[in-house]
Amino acid sequence: MDTPTTVSTLPPPRFDAFPPPPPPPPPPAPHGPSKPPSRQRLARVARLTLMAAAIGLAFLIDSAIFTGVIVLFVLIVPFEKMYPRQKGQRIRRPLVGTDISYALLGPLLNVVGIVALVVIGGLSLFWLPGLALSPLVGLIPAAALPFVGFLMFDFVSYWTHRFAHEVPFMWRFHSVHHSPEHMDWVSGFRIHPFDGVVIAPAFFFLIGAGFDAELAGVFAVFQIILGLFFHANVRFRWRYLDKVAANPEFHHWHHSSEDDAVGHNYGAALPWWDLLFGTFFMPKHTTGRRPARYGVSPQLPNHLLGQLTYPCRGARRHLWLWRHPILAVRTLAAATRNLLVDIRRSAFRPTHSIRREASPGVFSTNSSLLGPDAVPKPAKKPLPARRRGEPAASITA
Ligand SMILES: [Zn+2]
Ligand SMILES: [Zn+2]
Repeated sequence: MDTPTTVSTLPPPRFDAFPPPPPPPPPPAPHGPSKPPSRQRLARVARLTLMAAAIGLAFLIDSAIFTGVIVLFVLIVPFEKMYPRQKGQRIRRPLVGTDISYALLGPLLNVVGIVALVVIGGLSLFWLPGLALSPLVGLIPAAALPFVGFLMFDFVSYWTHRFAHEVPFMWRFHSVHHSPEHMDWVSGFRIHPFDGVVIAPAFFFLIGAGFDAELAGVFAVFQIILGLFFHANVRFRWRYLDKVAANPEFHHWHHSSEDDAVGHNYGAALPWWDLLFGTFFMPKHTTGRRPARYGVSPQLPNHLLGQLTYPCRGARRHLWLWRHPILAVRTLAAATRNLLVDIRRSAFRPTHSIRREASPGVFSTNSSLLGPDAVPKPAKKPLPARRRGEPAASITA
């Protein structure tokens, strides 16, 4: 069913103390000036050596990831070949190397991600409503616990995913996951390590409610594997049961940059929450309409390092805060307040309305985490008042 979508009026822009990352420089012209062949070869060897060292280190940290990737390759790739969504898309499509790097470096990136996961999970306070529900959870028969736990996990995941899109600061990190312009199962690996923390509130919520940490871990792993399958280049949907369970087409529409599809299908395994909160988007199969365009605008850098540092662009402007602890605390408080305002705006916005930037396909990255209450940088010492008859001080001094 087509979901009617109206664009709500955007609030006036706030003081831009933390401006959006500038668009990456345009790629070099194919026939433009290039490095001499020997330097090119050297750079390539250095890149490959670095990659081999990183993969070796990742293997030492967790060899299971390699087994998992090979098993998924064997299971999913035949599906992609037999029932392709985008016919003619090759396995070696553009930027597949970047996504394979994410897959192979996952264990290394996760070391950073897991620390952030614990910190964000604790700070998100989602374990508090979990604690409040724990007496009720204690009344549930043991046999029903996994089902109830799964429902609760999926519900919280819906909301954290929605915030990742509709809260500009969180979108900086999540936009990395939405940057592939070709969807296949490998593109599902492209996740910024700090974006992975969106799973933390659901995890902590379940622990707070009294569920086993192991059970919550099983849900998290299940969600990750299901997610990889949902990115696969397969034309697979349930047709009449599309409103019962998510499927690859449901998630492909989530990644679509087509105007009316943006801001829909946040559910991880169940589309029920999207139906309930007005973010479900699945044109009827009889219309023949299928997701065809993916990616974000402006485009992100193509290489892994550029994508990993992309969300932090512009943050250097705030390094001066380290020298002013009181101002730093006040700024952090203002930033937290703005983050909560953005979360509340997303949670209570009218059903069927989305916040959208002028450019189609992306949410606003222009509003600042540091809003009007943010503490401005202290002004430099004013120049001494000029005495009568003295020449004016040079501005460029
Ligand atoms: Zn998303
Ligand atoms: Zn995705």
